[in-house]
Amino acid sequence: MPQLIFASNNLNKAEEIRSFVNNQFTFKTLHEAGISIDIPEPFDTLEENAYKKSKTIYTLTQNDCFSEDTGLFVESLYGEPGVKSARYADGSGYAGNVVKLLAKMEDVENRKAYFKTVASLIIAGKAYLFEGTCEGIILAKCTGINGFGYDPVFVPDGSGNTFAEMTLDEKNIFSHRKKAIGSLISFITKSFPGKYK
Ligand code: IMP
Repeated sequence: MPQLIFASNNLNKAEEIRSFVNNQFTFKTLHEAGISIDIPEPFDTLEENAYKKSKTIYTLTQNDCFSEDTGLFVESLYGEPGVKSARYADGSGYAGNVVKLLAKMEDVENRKAYFKTVASLIIAGKAYLFEGTCEGIILAKCTGINGFGYDPVFVPDGSGNTFAEMTLDEKNIFSHRKKAIGSLISFITKSFPGKYK
């Protein structure tokens, strides 16, 4: 049975996706596929970066694959950190990125922000894009220990808790990633029923 490759080294994302893919299809991470590669994200849009990741792995393996690129867009910071969310504090990791964001937002009243995920799927050389967003606010300090990235400071609209205070199932009710990959799953199950199970 053919299996999709998830063109990412981010195990947090893989864990999240596995939590809602259930038995609709199976996929391998890069590590599970025995591929060691750091795919750059050189572009200014999530769409281009997501496509680049899936295209790189498709070219390397000729295996159908998908990828995603995600950013946190803060209204009062004119969309920062945006497409540079992973590298906001120049390689100092999740904690460093959050510290930088909170410092920039000290005394800022407008706390509105949204996550956006763009997923790119390549099947038999043909590319498809899907997206999902989640609106919310940025707290002034970290709350909660679950999740990753900016989860401890992001409260989605409709909830009183940060993503880091939620279980994966709770995060999936609101999640940008769940929406984008959910559309990808619907597309695969409709267009290629049973192919990647
Ligand atoms: P990329 O999609 O690999 O470029 O990563 C984007 C960055 O955004 C990650 O390194 C995290 O810091 C952050 N990020 C992506 N998705 C989430 C999420 O669901 N919650 C919190 N932070 C996230």
